[in-house]
Amino acid sequence: MASIPEEFIEQVKFANDIVDLFRLYADVKKSGRIYLCCCPFHAEKTPSCAIYPESNSFYCFGCHVGGDVIKFITLTENVSYVEAIQILAQRSGLVMPSTSPEQKQKEFLRNKCYSLNRDAANFYYQQITKNQESLQFLKAKQILPETVKQYALGYAPDEQSALYNYLKQKNYSEREIFASGLCRKNQNQKFYDSFRKRMIFPVVDSRDHVIAFGAMAIEQNQPEFFYTDSTPVASKNKIIFLLNKIHTLQNQEFFILAENYFQAVFLRQSGFENVIAIPDKLTAQQVNTIARYTKQILLISSPSAHYGDMQYIRNLCSQAEIFVRIVSLPNHADSAGFIRNYGAEAFRKQLEQAEDAVQNALENSWNGLDEEQDRTILLQKSAAVLAGIKNPLEREVYLTETARKFQLTPEQMQNLMDSLHHQRSPSSRSNSRSLSKEELNFSFRYSRKKRFSEEQILVYLVRFPEKISDIRSYLPPESFMTESYREIYQLICQNEGNFSEFPPELSELVRKYQEIELNDECISDCVHVLNSSAK
Ligand SMILES: [Zn+2]
Repeated sequence: MASIPEEFIEQVKFANDIVDLFRLYADVKKSGRIYLCCCPFHAEKTPSCAIYPESNSFYCFGCHVGGDVIKFITLTENVSYVEAIQILAQRSGLVMPSTSPEQKQKEFLRNKCYSLNRDAANFYYQQITKNQESLQFLKAKQILPETVKQYALGYAPDEQSALYNYLKQKNYSEREIFASGLCRKNQNQKFYDSFRKRMIFPVVDSRDHVIAFGAMAIEQNQPEFFYTDSTPVASKNKIIFLLNKIHTLQNQEFFILAENYFQAVFLRQSGFENVIAIPDKLTAQQVNTIARYTKQILLISSPSAHYGDMQYIRNLCSQAEIFVRIVSLPNHADSAGFIRNYGAEAFRKQLEQAEDAVQNALENSWNGLDEEQDRTILLQKSAAVLAGIKNPLEREVYLTETARKFQLTPEQMQNLMDSLHHQRSPSSRSNSRSLSKEELNFSFRYSRKKRFSEEQILVYLVRFPEKISDIRSYLPPESFMTESYREIYQLICQNEGNFSEFPPELSELVRKYQEIELNDECISDCVHVLNSSAK
């Protein structure tokens, strides 16, 4: 960040009009000296996002996201601060100033990787129609020729180094080929293709770059899917397949998280628009990206899905305020198999009947309650589900319902949960503290955004203790609404970040945000949120 001169950043900001940028994503209406629109970053029907042409900035009063044109691009394009500057520079015809040699080299490799990926995608695409095996496979799976074209599906032939030879011929260096993850080296340092005899699914980002690949076995006794690992152009935990296809549609009612890339393509071919897929276990970064578009995910529960276990997914989504529903297809069918057998309309009905994931887990934990099973064990199971719900209001609702099921009062249920938690791990009590009245009131009065902001500031100060004195000067402890966070903040300020004992609650926060990048931009937003609410 420091490598881009301040002047240039100012130039970029000046050259890009915030209202113009918003028009690409939202229906913008003039209202006096400002503009208003429905927020592109959270689902809403009445406009609460304000655009200020005079300061070339924006602020949403619904989700409390705001900032300048660079911030806007980091959010809409899901890119880093530097990449956002690059996009804006390019958009306005400005040339990026030269950077350090290492950075130049990195940039060079990244650009090479983009073009290599595109060439590889072309190579695979050419193979798919040439090859009898792949054509048969497409036919058996009912994938239409238009679909192959639309998603640039490809085929990796059953040859040791067909792609490698092709890329060499295109003058890519061994270093570049290796970095792409599409070819590997054996013990004798000889290159071979990573994917062979597989259907290929290129992952394309919103800027039309091919950033990664998924490869599906066309034979049954093979591992079903392989994916390229993290490369110079994409880290695996950020990749969301087909997000580029829904990029311009904002405020989706829900996203369908398909089991894998193939299922996602099949669903789109069958008329389901808002479909995505991910290469591996769902990560916090992906969830945060998804949260910008929708507040609800429908998960397909089928044997070919590898998102990670349900409790883990519920917790991740709960933190991002995403509601999870589960689509359970009968007879362990996958989406494509189900649609082939019963049609798209029947699948749509299945989506409508999708079950609330928390409800589903709770009901599972109540199984056997009628048969006088050990209530403590059942309570323990329910308590584990309830503890995973991060939103206090939501947890309260489910807690009340669970209490009723066990013929307890909500207070008794809460006490039981507390004591069970004590027995299990007294040291981790702070991880999922019980809900006090005070906290419940708190959550009524203040949005989660404020709490998130508090958390992010604390984690940021742990990561960058050199910023403590800076932030301390314009963020008084009173701005913190959550008492325990305020205490931790005071502790950090007093000790300049040197703790004799690291507060457990703080380590929990550090863990929670471990995959999330926190930069100056985002922290100044957080400070703004806290200072504007401390009245
Ligand atoms: Zn908003």
